[in-house]
Amino acid sequence: MAAASIRLFNTMTMQKETLEPAVPGKLGVYVCGPTVYSYVHIGNARTFTSFDVVVRYLRYRGFEVKYVRNYTDVDDKIIKAAHETGEEPVALAARFVEAFREDARALHLLEPDVSPKVSDHLAEIIGIIGKLVDKGLAYESKGDVYFSVRHYPEYAKLSKRNLDDLCAGERVQPGEQKHEPLDFALWKAAKPGEPAWDSPWGKGRPGWHIECSAMSAKYLGETFDIHGGGLDLIFPHHENEIAQSEGASGKTFSRYWMHCGFLDLEGAKMSKSLGNVVRLRDALTKVDPEALRFFFVGTHYRHPLNFADKGLADAEQRMEYFYETLRKVDERVSGKDFGKGPLYGEPHKHLTEFESQMDDDFNTAGALGALSGLFAQMNELTDKPPVKDKAQVGRTLQALREDVRKVSGVLGLFEDEPAQWLLRRRDRAVKERGIDVAKVESLIQARNEARKAKNFAEGDRLREELKGMGVEILDTAAGTVWKVAPQ
Ligand SMILES: [Zn+2]
Repeated sequence: MAAASIRLFNTMTMQKETLEPAVPGKLGVYVCGPTVYSYVHIGNARTFTSFDVVVRYLRYRGFEVKYVRNYTDVDDKIIKAAHETGEEPVALAARFVEAFREDARALHLLEPDVSPKVSDHLAEIIGIIGKLVDKGLAYESKGDVYFSVRHYPEYAKLSKRNLDDLCAGERVQPGEQKHEPLDFALWKAAKPGEPAWDSPWGKGRPGWHIECSAMSAKYLGETFDIHGGGLDLIFPHHENEIAQSEGASGKTFSRYWMHCGFLDLEGAKMSKSLGNVVRLRDALTKVDPEALRFFFVGTHYRHPLNFADKGLADAEQRMEYFYETLRKVDERVSGKDFGKGPLYGEPHKHLTEFESQMDDDFNTAGALGALSGLFAQMNELTDKPPVKDKAQVGRTLQALREDVRKVSGVLGLFEDEPAQWLLRRRDRAVKERGIDVAKVESLIQARNEARKAKNFAEGDRLREELKGMGVEILDTAAGTVWKVAPQ
């Protein structure tokens, strides 16, 4: 496969560029991870899903990717949350790291190759701060250490902000140890009750931004390929990372910058069924994880996305259609040998289209269009095959099914057994709508008996009765299956 044909929008240049790794065939990817003071927020889940798909696709395209996503386990928010619960901050953070791992697995997020924590990287953090102090880019002040923005003329080159504008109206507040308002903390002197480590500037803890500079350099080198995060991190977090890393190394920090758009929660706030769902784990009690992924990737990662009932319900219904198709196709062709011979039409054109959309700045929204074409063709071939040659139809369906597996690996969808997924979806709908399953099953049995006795009028009457209960039935090769009808 042509590995060098991917174009991505680089926030640094504000242009789409062809992705060219520093080392051919290899890519280092760093994504700013969660601050583990609580459960992961649904907006962050969107960002992590976007980069999950990016990493999966880069691998699909043949790159050897090293994916690093950190945990911020030393932070003001963690200290505050720990004071509230009476736990040690490090213990509280460890608890939420585990919770994050569980939630990430539930959302089918790949485990990164390295997931470093701040609390394990004090030596690296202190090392880079020392370098900045030696170079005159940072200064100590009463046990704190600050980056001196005035000494780094390229500051704000990612966000393209103007330093004079940034300074306007800002002043150093009473009690602050920094010299100038834009200077930011690399190291904070210990306060009572806070976690603290020894350093050349006394006991203290790192500021937020320095960890990403230290950990990315350790695992990916001083220069690496792709740095990602949410749009809200551009300023000041990524700007400060650049200043620290490039200030210390004198080299380009990340060669490409990618940022994921906001998840707008207004829709959720107004929604009855979602309530104020802002945690991923709460959302996953209401919506299927793959449907949530499908909802996320239905919008380009750089665009804002409105989190609301309608979109989620549509996503889940769409997933049901996909899984119903897969169940039907698997029933027809799985494990069968249709011999060698020509295929019908151009079955791989959908996969080619999927790839060309993904090559264009990971355009998942466009890629889903190609996926729809793929499923429409599978349905056509199973329901009303345009050719008589059953072996040719079987071979073509198998080829299409194989392409679905490839797409599935990139999007993290259709990883379930179709019958299992459909059953879970049905169970959830049954609960929500209060449907009596025992009654449904006895009516289906009565209908099958009526049909066996050729009493088709009674069979139709029973089908109508089921319909009145919100149940749709489908006669398949494996027997009658039922589902809850969409509302
Ligand atoms: Zn970061």
